[in-house]
Amino acid sequence: MKHPRKVLFLDRDGTLIVEKNYLNDANQVEMMPGSVECLRGLRDLGFEFCLVTNQSGLSSRKVELANVTAIHERIKKALASSGVDLLSIYVSQAPSGAEDFLRKPNPGMLLTAAHDYNIDLAKSWMIGDKPIDVEAGRRAGCRTIFFKQPHSESFRFEPGFATAHFECHNWQEVLNTIKEAN
Ligand SMILES: [Mg+2]
Repeated sequence: MKHPRKVLFLDRDGTLIVEKNYLNDANQVEMMPGSVECLRGLRDLGFEFCLVTNQSGLSSRKVELANVTAIHERIKKALASSGVDLLSIYVSQAPSGAEDFLRKPNPGMLLTAAHDYNIDLAKSWMIGDKPIDVEAGRRAGCRTIFFKQPHSESFRFEPGFATAHFECHNWQEVLNTIKEAN
């Protein structure tokens, strides 16, 4: 059996790609500066990658499933052009505010991935621009990075939510942080 994998779980909007507020068009996909280079660096350290994204816009019909699929194809293409592959993509379609096991801050997408791909969660990381990303990573037993963006100021850590192990402001910091802690 292959050794358990170590994975970086990636939030999508505002982390891997630029936040566009209910993105519904693959032509609007814009990779976050430095993200692809960072993932390539982490790949060289033996990390693999899973995208874990809440898309409540699917249940509220602000976003269409075919477009989400096209968006993810676009992201995979952008990564593949630099030699980076995604192990898998997990999407929660649960409505905003729903108490659903797969919807972050719950850890369901990460735990499902761990089961599907033999992932060592203790050696894995979760990164995202919202406290719910950090909380999902914590609940799954991963180390966590709060990817703090100008818009992150408007997000609050709910009472009971843990803070992140690390806080980074750009992808170069992410690479350095994981490198040092690895
Ligand atoms: Mg986000």
